Amino acid sequence: MILSTHYAVGMAIASQTDYWLLMPIASLISHFVLDRIPHWEYLDSSKQIKNNIPIIALDLLFPATVSLMLFANGILDFKELFWLNLGGFFGILPDGLVFLKIVTRSKNAWLKGFFKFHRKNHTLKNLKPFWGALSQAIIIVTCLGLISIAKNIGIG
Ligand SMILES: [Zn+2]
Repeated sequence: MILSTHYAVGMAIASQTDYWLLMPIASLISHFVLDRIPHWEYLDSSKQIKNNIPIIALDLLFPATVSLMLFANGILDFKELFWLNLGGFFGILPDGLVFLKIVTRSKNAWLKGFFKFHRKNHTLKNLKPFWGALSQAIIIVTCLGLISIAKNIGIG
């Protein structure tokens, strides 16, 4: 899954609970559950990371930027902004660790073990870009819905 999808699901989980222990655990678990679903990603190999830094940055910052805009408009208060983004952080943390392992070429046993675990838990089935993008758009919109219900914002 792309980072925005993981981040949005982490945020949606955070919107549904303010229990400080449940939220990070549920957000972390959501990452591995999402990775098991056949999906589409714009990176096929770790070698592509270097060539796609702007897209990765955009993907990474998109949900956080939307939440910052909601904060700027007074729709979210600071505590909500922080909590939702903390959920997003835990939602992408596994990919962050994978990224760290690739970029630093670390030989750290714990990181290597985690890298293997992440790969083993990842689906081997890839969707075509159209279905992959559509399914992730649906997940993100559903997350927005969950956040707006929790916040009573209402979309539109
Ligand atoms: Zn992942």
